[in-house]
Amino acid sequence: LLVKLKDPSLAVDKGLIGAEWLDRSDSGKTFDVSNPATGEVIAILPDMSRSETARAIDAAHAAQRAWAEKTGKERAAVLRNLYDLVIANAEDLATILTMEMGKPLTEAKGEILYGASYVEWFGEEAKRVYGDTIPGHQPDKRIIVLKQPIGVVAAITPWNFPNAMLARKLAPAAAAGCAVVSKPAAETPLSALAIALLAERAGLPAGVFNVILSTDSAEVGKEMCANDKVRKLTFTGSTNVGKILMRQGADQIMKLGLELGGNAPFIVFDDADLDAAVEGAMVAKYRNNGQTCVCANRLFVQAGIYDAFAARLTAKVSEMTIGDGFEPDVDAGPLISEKALAKVEEHIRDAVTKGADLVLGGNARGGLFFEPTVLTGATMDMKIAREETFGPVAPLFKFETENEVVSMANNTEFGLASYFYSKDVSKVFRVAEALEYGMVGINTGLISTEVAPFGGVKQSGQGREGSKYGIDDYVETKYLCLSI
Ligand code: ADP
Repeated sequence: LLVKLKDPSLAVDKGLIGAEWLDRSDSGKTFDVSNPATGEVIAILPDMSRSETARAIDAAHAAQRAWAEKTGKERAAVLRNLYDLVIANAEDLATILTMEMGKPLTEAKGEILYGASYVEWFGEEAKRVYGDTIPGHQPDKRIIVLKQPIGVVAAITPWNFPNAMLARKLAPAAAAGCAVVSKPAAETPLSALAIALLAERAGLPAGVFNVILSTDSAEVGKEMCANDKVRKLTFTGSTNVGKILMRQGADQIMKLGLELGGNAPFIVFDDADLDAAVEGAMVAKYRNNGQTCVCANRLFVQAGIYDAFAARLTAKVSEMTIGDGFEPDVDAGPLISEKALAKVEEHIRDAVTKGADLVLGGNARGGLFFEPTVLTGATMDMKIAREETFGPVAPLFKFETENEVVSMANNTEFGLASYFYSKDVSKVFRVAEALEYGMVGINTGLISTEVAPFGGVKQSGQGREGSKYGIDDYVETKYLCLSI
């Protein structure tokens, strides 16, 4: 890793508690981080647990008030510095990301810029955390509404976007005046550590951002939920773990931000622009090798356009190249783990057993590589229709009517992203309003941006990240009732 970086100091192998960088000798236990494309160990990190988590929470608690007392403009200046540093080091941050996570380098660069956009956005928002005044309910009363930072925030993030998922939490929290104790996924902690180092260089006071490194996420999560200095827990990951955290946080009525799993429908109506729909399906399905929570999981195609869409999509997918993310022009890197690969294989096996046709791909290619795959004739009784595959498999379902497809699309406990293609304006509004999802991409397969509220309904979570709404998740509303 070091030889690939312009600034080798960005390859950090220590956790951060307050002002203190903790190395291997401080915790006794260690864990390895490896490159999923090669299996090679790229870092050995201290393996922390509950006591370090409690110390980090103390450090955050000690730092938070002074940070909150700064003006919005002062906090904005630090976030602007961080944004500038992320942009200046984007190449190195992308290299770290590809090496620990496997995605193609161009996608990694895209993620770094996407993560940075939240730092920029919320830095700007720091100055606009407005309260309100309300006409009094009695002649002598004056009512004032304040927005105050929640306090210490715990943040648990996943491996699929190790930079951006953290940036989306750190930026609004820091902008609002909160302090953060983060726990990145053990598969991909190096991106979080690089952000922590840059945040320190940007002038973020010690203790405002802490990074716990651990393979024992259950213990870390318990401390985060039980420690009454933590006022909010923000989590991006699986619905199952989200439920565990919600249960654990119940004892102290923990405020929760949850970005959980999805089962995104991608609907192509007969009147769609076929080329645009195929293009959209390529990004919505195969970006990040199918490992995003907003990935199209079920492709519903209307009967009149089904065969044409299947043929065009299959042709496009067959052009994809698989390989190490550092090789030029690679479209798909490795999957993250053996477990992820096994799930992809299981979903394909189950679908084929229940009658789907494997029209492209379907094979492992050694290591953690898997061929981009297309299945036709998918039906709602298949696992692939109910569970998030999180891999490069597009199952095509055939439908006849608008009502039928809306009901199939909504027939899931998830409600994160959804997509559909149609040129009929009335249908666009009808379907967009009927879909029980937090986000709807219409004639586009790419919906993520810092200016819009990202989040889900049903079991896909609660809270929103990004946009003018995003900072609300990190402030409390207090009202003052003044008698004059
Ligand atoms: P994925 O299947 O994408 O790895 P997870 O929900 O298992 O999704 O992981 C997302 C994040 O949650 C990771 O940082 C992981 O370490 C953490 N995590 C997993 N289990 C727990 C738990 N019981 N308590 C707290 N964090 C957890």
